[in-house]
Amino acid sequence: MGRYALGVDWEDGHGSIFPFEHLRRACRCEACTSAGPAAAVETRPREIARLPDAVKITWVDGHETLHPHPALRALCGCASCTGGH
Ligand SMILES: [Zn+2]
Ligand SMILES: [Zn+2]
Repeated sequence: MGRYALGVDWEDGHGSIFPFEHLRRACRCEACTSAGPAAAVETRPREIARLPDAVKITWVDGHETLHPHPALRALCGCASCTGGH
């Protein structure tokens, strides 16, 4: 596990790297969405649980973010996922 990013290897062979800051800012829970994107947030993970259908991250400040796999995959910023050339 990287210190600044989470690596995920998908069943189809694709590999994604998600910076933790990106994962925290993509949190869709009520607290995060109502706080708005400008809110200062903790982006260091304390614990990462790889569930069968999701990744759950507990941050140093105690907040929990759940990213179901389809949503996580949609966050992949690599060239092949974003259609970059
Ligand atoms: Zn949240
Ligand atoms: Zn990708």
